Order: sequence, then structure tokens, then C-alpha cells
Amino acid sequence: MNDSKYDIIIIGTGLGGLVCGYMLAKGGRKVLLLEKNAQIGGCLQTFSRFGLKFDTGMHYVGGLDEGQIMYQFFDQLNLLKDVRLSRLDKEGFDHFSIAGKEYRFAAGYECFVETLSQQFPSYKQDLQTYVQRIRAISESSPLYDLNKAGDSSYLESPYLHSSVNELLSSTTSNQQLQNVLAGNLPLYAGVKDKTPAYVYALISNSYIQSAWRIVGGSDSIAQSLANSIRSFGGEIRTRSEVSKILCDSTKATSIQLTDGEVIEAQHFISDIHPQKLIKLTDSKLIRPVYRERVQQMENTVGNFTLYLKFKENSVPYLNYNYYYYAGEDVWASYHSQQTEPQSFLYMHQCTEEGQQYAQSAEIMVPMDYQEVAKWSGTYTGHRGSEYQEFKQKKAEQVLHLLEQSFPGISSCIEKFETSTPLTYRDYTATTNGSTYGILHDKNAMEQTQISQRTKIPNLILTGQNIHWHGMLGVTVSAMLASKQLTINN
Ligand SMILES: Cc1cc2nc3c(=O)[nH]c(=O)nc-3n(C[C@H](O)[C@H](O)[C@H](O)COP(=O)(O)OP(=O)(O)OC[C@H]3O[C@@H](n4cnc5c(N)ncnc54)[C@H](O)[C@@H]3O)c2cc1C
Repeated sequence: MNDSKYDIIIIGTGLGGLVCGYMLAKGGRKVLLLEKNAQIGGCLQTFSRFGLKFDTGMHYVGGLDEGQIMYQFFDQLNLLKDVRLSRLDKEGFDHFSIAGKEYRFAAGYECFVETLSQQFPSYKQDLQTYVQRIRAISESSPLYDLNKAGDSSYLESPYLHSSVNELLSSTTSNQQLQNVLAGNLPLYAGVKDKTPAYVYALISNSYIQSAWRIVGGSDSIAQSLANSIRSFGGEIRTRSEVSKILCDSTKATSIQLTDGEVIEAQHFISDIHPQKLIKLTDSKLIRPVYRERVQQMENTVGNFTLYLKFKENSVPYLNYNYYYYAGEDVWASYHSQQTEPQSFLYMHQCTEEGQQYAQSAEIMVPMDYQEVAKWSGTYTGHRGSEYQEFKQKKAEQVLHLLEQSFPGISSCIEKFETSTPLTYRDYTATTNGSTYGILHDKNAMEQTQISQRTKIPNLILTGQNIHWHGMLGVTVSAMLASKQLTINN
């Protein structure tokens, strides 16, 4: 018998938590979503500075043309009515500058091959093989068909056991082309011989299908889902940090908030980083060996980000993303241990469809947590002058690099703001401010893969740490989590 007020409590209102909330509330379940922050959305949050709105963790989305995979999910989640989309340039939605040479990814499989073939005329066949492979990996993935999907079938995928590098080097012998094809690596914070080929393929494939910016900010996705959840009778509470998951000898019974309030439910879904989650319960159901394995998992690298406000009508709007690598080897430039940045991803924010000038932009540069670890005991806004100086110096280095590609751009910047992995650590509670959470390693899949089910039978996991990150990966993980509760209960 269900004595609890809630059927399901969802911890965290990132995309994963919100999609679960939508699916379950729509299915008639009594859901409560709990969010520690004042704003919902996790990485879908935006913030306001200098009278402008900036995204924090969702800059562009793939596969949103009618019939494509993400379109189907947006349709199912009733997002198409609220979320305004702006298509990135079909002729080149991603531009790359690698050791001074420029390349483009065009949308659509044929255009993609044709465009790159102009610079690699002897490798057209390799490019065709490339698109066939990433399509095949995506389309054969059990995660592309939610009716067939489940954790166990997913683990049988042959692509769990080869790396991005193995995929690319077996597709073309041309190293320059390999670097170009790997050039969107900030999208998956890749590690050359670790990141599984399927993570790269699923992400790249969806963008090659079609690539879009979200007009006015990615918080529109969170707001739309939240409005739907409430309309189905679900509840969402912000400033409600879960500090404990209370269990009896067989299952979870309730959660406790930091203010001491205890709330019971029949089932629990966690959308938070698993390394944070297992610290919330001392239940014996979770074995020490599992705790240790989770705690030892490596995370993807974090970012230093610049948020730019441009002077009015000074910078023409770029309807594409711009990836820069100082050296030929994109992996080395991305993971460079030198103190000066060697790579960046530069994106204009879309404030209005068809805009002529950019009002704002973001520049993301990979940043190892070690660079900011000495301020780990501080909190946003109170980190001291040394930290401010560190950020200022880093910002100047990044702007110097941007100036190489866009001469004169610095004089168009009216103001800028910065963030580091510490900012993400404090806002989304991801370990060490990691961008995409746990780093999956094809050499140790079982050790670096987290199952959606836990040894606490009524606690299920969702979010970017489960299958893969991003709009597509997190939506899939949330659909699967919701399905488990719908089928089994
Ligand atoms: C800089 C950056 C750029 C990105 N760019 C893109 C992109 O262009 N395209 C794309 O598809 N993806 C992008 N991503 C990835 C994508 O945004 C994420 O994979 C996805 O949004 C993560 O969703 P999630 O559900 O896992 O949870 P998260 O967004 O991590 O949210 C977790 C939520 O849980 C809350 N929480 C944590 N602990 C507690 C607690 N104890 N109690 C209550 N609440 C708690 C947090 O406050 C947070 O709101 C980007 C990510 C980052 C960081």
C-alpha cells in the first residue's frame, strides 16, 4: 500500500531529472523534484550579466530536423511549442582552425563528405566510410530505440571496446583528416585512447544531421518541462538540497533536506553526480567495494569560460561555432598541460532568429581542476583577489588567442565575465567542476560505466553520468529511468 504523499522523489532538476519528472507525472505518478539551487535546470541554467542572458551548459543541439532523433524527443516532451530554435549554417555549422588551416563541417551526410573532400580530394572514400560508420554505430545502438533498450543490451555493443582514436585511425590513414574529424572534441571532452567510439559517434552523428542554437537561452527547455510537470500535478521545490537518503534494511524510505525535513516516497531517482550521491547514504545495501569503485572514477576535464558582451553593432553574428587549435595535433592542444591555453571553442549567443550582430559570445577553454584547487575551500563571489587576478590573466591569454583568428575583436568587447571549474562545482555539484561527469574508458568499460539500477532496489540513476552526456545522452537515460518505473511498478 502506498502511504507516502509521493510515488517518486527526484533529486536534482537537471535535464535528466526534468525529463523523468515529465514522463512520470504525465503517466499519473505523484512526483516531487528537489533542487538545491534557486534556479532549476542544472546545466540548462542561464545567468544574467550586463543586461544580457548567458547559457551555462547547453550551447547547441543536434538532430532536430523533423523526423530526426532529437526532434522526436522534443515532440514527445512537448518542447517544440516553447523552445525557439535557430538552425546553424548548413554549409558549415562548425568551423575549425587547426595549426592555421581552416576546415568546416557541413550539415547532412552528403554535404559533409563533399565539403571536406574539397580539402582532402584523395580521401573522399574515407569520408564516406566515416559517415557510414558513425551512422551505423548510432543507428545500431540499442539506445536509439527505446523499445529495445536496456542496460544489459547496451553493454553488448561492440563499440564499447574501441576508442575514438581507433575509429578514426582505422577510417583514414591521413593524420590531418583524423585531426579534423576529432576537432569537435570539446563536445565530449575526449581523451584520445580512452573515450569510447560510440560516445563520439552518437554525438557527432546527431550534429551532422542538423545543428541548432536555442534562441534566447537554454533555460527555455527547463522552464517548458517544469511548466508541463506542474500542469500534470507534479511538484518542484527549489532551495531544497537533499543531504541524506534514509534506508531500512531492504530499500530507501525517505530523503532528508539540509534543514532537517524528511520526505517519504515509494521510489527515488537521482539526477546528481554518483560520487555525490553515494555520500548521501550509509545504507549497507551499497557495498564498500561499489562505493570505492565509484569514488575512484575519473571525470572529464572542466572549463574556463569567458562570457563576452560586445559593443552595440560591432561584431557580425556568426551562425557557426569556431574551434581553434594552436597545433596540428588537436588532442595535444586540447589537453595541453602548458599554462597558456592552446585551444578554445568560440560561440555567439542567439538572441533573435536572423540577427545581424552578436550581442554576446562565450569562449570555452579546457581547464584542469588542479589549476584552481588551491581555492577549493572558497565559494562563488568570495574567493579573494588572488583568484580574481588568476582569472584576469587567463582571460587575457584567451583573448590574445581569439585575436589571432578575429583581429580587432578585443576592441569590440564592452565587458566580460569568467567562470572556472570551481563555479561548476558549486552550481551543478559535479565533481571538481567536470564538464560532462564520469569519463568512460573503453579500456575499462565495466569500471567506468555506471548502471542505472543500484543495490537499493527503489533508487534509480539518471543524468549525464549514466550512458553519455548532452541533450541526447541525458534524454535517453531519463527515458530509460522512467520506463523502468513505469514497467516494473
Ligand atoms: C560548459 C558545458 C557546455 C555544454 N554544452 C553542451 C551543448 O552544447 N550541447 C549539449 O547537448 N550538451 C552540452 N553540455 C552537456 C549537457 O548540458 C549536460 O550533459 C546535461 O545538461 C546534464 O544534465 P543532468 O541531468 O545530468 O544534470 P545536471 O545538469 O548536472 O544537473 C544536476 C542538478 O542536480 C542538482 N543537485 C546536485 N546535488 C543536489 C542535492 N544534493 N540536492 C538537490 N539537488 C542537487 C544540481 O544543482 C543540478 O541542478 C554542456 C555541459 C557543460 C557543463
